[in-house]
Amino acid sequence: MRPIISFLFLLLNLSCTAIADSLLKKHWYQQGDRWLNDKVQFLEASIKTQSDTPDNAAAKNIILFIGDGMSITTLTAARIWQGQQQGLLGEEHFLHFETFPYTALIKTYNSNQQTPDSAGTMSAIMTGVKTRAGVISMGPEQDRTDCKGSAQHNQKTLLEWGYEQNFDTGIVTTARLTHATPAATYAHSPDRVWEGDYDRHLNAYWYGCDSIAKQLIEGAFPAGLDLALGGGASRLENYYDSFQQQFPAGHLLNNQRDLLEWNTATQPQSEDGPVLGVFSSEHMDFEMDRRREQPSLQQMTQKAIEYFEGRNKNYLLVIESARIDHAHHNGNAARALAETAMLADSVQLADDMTKDDDTLIIVTADHSHTFVMAGYPKRGNSILGISKNQKNEVVLANDGMPYTSLGYANGKASGRKESTEHFASSEDKNFHQEVGIALPLETHGSDDVALHAKGPGAYLFSGLMEQNEIFHTMLQALSRADMSAEDSQ
Ligand SMILES: [Zn+2]
Repeated sequence: MRPIISFLFLLLNLSCTAIADSLLKKHWYQQGDRWLNDKVQFLEASIKTQSDTPDNAAAKNIILFIGDGMSITTLTAARIWQGQQQGLLGEEHFLHFETFPYTALIKTYNSNQQTPDSAGTMSAIMTGVKTRAGVISMGPEQDRTDCKGSAQHNQKTLLEWGYEQNFDTGIVTTARLTHATPAATYAHSPDRVWEGDYDRHLNAYWYGCDSIAKQLIEGAFPAGLDLALGGGASRLENYYDSFQQQFPAGHLLNNQRDLLEWNTATQPQSEDGPVLGVFSSEHMDFEMDRRREQPSLQQMTQKAIEYFEGRNKNYLLVIESARIDHAHHNGNAARALAETAMLADSVQLADDMTKDDDTLIIVTADHSHTFVMAGYPKRGNSILGISKNQKNEVVLANDGMPYTSLGYANGKASGRKESTEHFASSEDKNFHQEVGIALPLETHGSDDVALHAKGPGAYLFSGLMEQNEIFHTMLQALSRADMSAEDSQ
């Protein structure tokens, strides 16, 4: 009797496996032709890109997108997340900029740290010189927090170069406008924390280092910065009067309605009236929690490009999705992925609004995070969900508990939760992924980040590059514009 029962079980087991297998195979076979087509399409696009882009193609404008903390794993997980939001399995999806023809890997270390911070990395991208963690657009000989004699170490930023060359220039961010990444585009400071006047240390007062807020309003705007959109009223509002006195024709925006009602064709009337939009007291909200009075990154991107495209001058625009970094520091993958997807949609809009033959679009990150995606989840497994195998069974760890495919190598200690209910909420936006090493906050990673590029000069980005080379490569793409302008005179 017993062998017969065993045999029946075996048969049942085999037929279940066979059904699961055939469903999977059906899926793969349906896609079978597509894999071949994709390959052909990719090659056709590559060959077309090569033939469409002459070596002397000139960049008139550059739009540089920075995903703060947007590691390569963040890209993989975000593309699956966005694909699954659209009803796909996910893995086959591309974020918009992942279809760009040119890519490079970027080494992110600071001059004094193996694992970098945003101040040092963005300074490298903006000035062409790697520097110390915490230092804003000054050379590596500058000690952090030492104001005395520091001005001699200032390094000219891409936007400052742009003021001199009569480019329109702008910065858009979802962080405080005085935060490290945006600050490195227009300011110089021995310490990133000197954002507002009262954030400065005593030696900054004593030796005369201005706050980053003051440098924006009374330094960068008069020197030629045309547009700044982001958060950080807590540091900037003391300077609103100064802004309006200096620039009676300038434009000050305070909320989403101000931004959307801004007629970029008629305001500001005069060349010497810059645009300042400050939409929150501190950083702007995460996209998943965004209050209606705040614009999205995409809305800010649209207005900034509309404005610059309408002015008929060459322009340099830096756009930062700042809060990918903050979500990762909190060990919260859901918000990090949503912020990355919003960045991708903003890039797509920028691509749609500009011409491929005059605008170089670059998308990169300042540094990585300890974010990991692992295990053997089945194809199409919910990216925020617990790991399930090919048979759709929950995979258990050594302690008998489920686990998510996303996690962090370090961060806020949550410990292994001892109830399966904990994992039932893994797709909730407030879920915190598990961590390997307990620290007060998750840290940056030291690994390389990706760079994607499209447009004139994009082909110059390839292979493994030092982060400061991004600056020199952008100038190269632009100097071609100068050369061709001279030729035509
Ligand atoms: Zn960070």
